Amino acid sequence: MPYLDTFDRPIDYLRVSVTDRCNLRCVYCMPEAGVPFIPHPHILRYEELTRVVQVAVAMGLAHVRLTGGEPLVRKGIVDLVQGLAAIPGLDDLSMTTNGMLLESYAAPLAKAGLHRVNVSLDTLRQERFQAITRLGSLDRVLRGRQAAVDAGLTPVKVNTVVVRGMNDDEIVDLARLTFLPGWHLRFIEVMPLGEGAHWARDGVAPATEIRARVEEALGALTPVRKGTGAGPARVYQLPGAEGTLGFISPVTEHFCHTCNRLRLTSDGKLLPCLMSNRAIDLRTPLRNGASDDDLQALFEQAIRAKPRGHHLAEQRPPECVLPMSSIGG
Ligand code: SAM
Ligand code: SF4
Repeated sequence: MPYLDTFDRPIDYLRVSVTDRCNLRCVYCMPEAGVPFIPHPHILRYEELTRVVQVAVAMGLAHVRLTGGEPLVRKGIVDLVQGLAAIPGLDDLSMTTNGMLLESYAAPLAKAGLHRVNVSLDTLRQERFQAITRLGSLDRVLRGRQAAVDAGLTPVKVNTVVVRGMNDDEIVDLARLTFLPGWHLRFIEVMPLGEGAHWARDGVAPATEIRARVEEALGALTPVRKGTGAGPARVYQLPGAEGTLGFISPVTEHFCHTCNRLRLTSDGKLLPCLMSNRAIDLRTPLRNGASDDDLQALFEQAIRAKPRGHHLAEQRPPECVLPMSSIGG
């Protein structure tokens, strides 16, 4: 049974950022010149990461998602996946990736024991894709997504951050993808964290509005029951569609009352909440010989420190100072 936090929320999900480095520079996530990266010696080694995840899984955090920066730019990522997949009690091991390197990694990752991937994709237009990601190639990401489907890393969900004036004119085209076999999509409101602050100022397209535009063009959405360990998306299907369409609205309808997660940064900080500055250092105790019980006590501390929620809907900015690229979304 997972631990309950102070507000009786079961905490069963850990997001692990394996690196803060990235091969793209998405405008709402990283500045063009990049951010000062965490020095290599501070980054948790794979043995350290695996040990932390073992402790977490034993406490009931049985859903683990690897993220970044871009997780596939970290050397030896397939070995890490293999080590994590062998942890007894781990129910779900997934990854969020920008898809640029997925074409060659999909099959080895599946073989190593990864269950599924989410691929980030905000547009279907090559020029716009390059403008948003600054360094990306749409074709490569599409090939990467297909390779993930072929490798069985399914369901492959596509994450689309919607920004008014950037890509909101493609909402219907993107939603239409769910009529194709194997396409599942999640629209996400842009959050005012780091670089996102600028884009969110006038750019938040509320999920209710996105939904209304989709329904007007493509028909009424039917709610879909979500499985266990499901994320914060409200999930639907269009009439006749094979795939699902979800809406994640961190800004306009926050879902903090269902929050089930902790986050681990690549330098070993455990974050009780994406929007808070509170961080519990695991790296120092790990390197000073902490026992599993000591690590478990630090996880318990993080669970107790989870706040009731954030205040973005009331226009109160988050206090968090870490860039999205080091938290991992
Ligand atoms: N590099 C990987 C990727 O892009 O999928 C994983 C890390 S990325 C930080 C994780 C997710 O956060 C991506 O889907 C990205 O689009 C999303 N993201 C980044 N900045 C955001 C922001 N300001 N608001 C909402 N989502 C954001
Ligand atoms: Fe990199 Fe992902 Fe941030 Fe884009 S959203 S810059 S791919 S970490």
